[in-house]
Amino acid sequence: MRLRNKPWALDKIAENPHLVVNNPSDWKGKWHQRFGNNNPIHIEIGSGKGRFVSEMAKKHPDINYIGIELQASVIVVALDKAIEANIPNLQLLHINGGQVTDYFEENEVDQIYLNFSDPWPKKKHAKRRLTHEEFLTAYQVVIKPKGSLCFKTDNRGLFEYSLVSFSQFGMILQEVCLDLHAEDESDNVRTEYEEKFSAKGHPIYRVEVKFAN
Ligand code: SAM
Repeated sequence: MRLRNKPWALDKIAENPHLVVNNPSDWKGKWHQRFGNNNPIHIEIGSGKGRFVSEMAKKHPDINYIGIELQASVIVVALDKAIEANIPNLQLLHINGGQVTDYFEENEVDQIYLNFSDPWPKKKHAKRRLTHEEFLTAYQVVIKPKGSLCFKTDNRGLFEYSLVSFSQFGMILQEVCLDLHAEDESDNVRTEYEEKFSAKGHPIYRVEVKFAN
């Protein structure tokens, strides 16, 4: 979805700095202050229209959630959900998730979620995949020692690539699931893309990995 379809998106973001954080680098190392508590901080990179992060925030009021999204025209949809949810433990960042080290201090994040990340199937675009080594290097800086990363996708090629990428990075596989919706889903919050691809009959893959540091 391109910005020209929603030319008002940047204005709407600017009008809601309590939810889509202005100058997020100012809060580097101070996110607990911003939330006003010492609860764990979980971030979703590529949060899209925001269903996952807003539902998780409602479900777990004792965890602080931050949804990170690159596209203004998409994050405004997540903003609508955040306005409606009206809860204190949800914030949105209109930034590039590859630059998390500009916005979070070392060890400031407890958990990272990647849901249905863009697959970038061409080999020449591999560096854009959110599970590429360069992204993992950035995530490792901001996540607490032994912090975990959960990744869901319906894209088998991206899933296989990511398992190799995690393994080559020295990460430890905690759980691997090849058909998430065939299992007990009581802990699972479905994303917009998850609903869409599941309805088409695609199995949903999920992996939870830990950094080895
Ligand atoms: N997670 C959502 C879901 O499952 O419904 C959205 C999935 S959509 C396929 C991927 C999203 O990631 C897009 O909205 C895209 O703009 C965003 N994205 C891609 N690269 C990103 C990056 N480097 N930083 C932040 N967001 C990114």
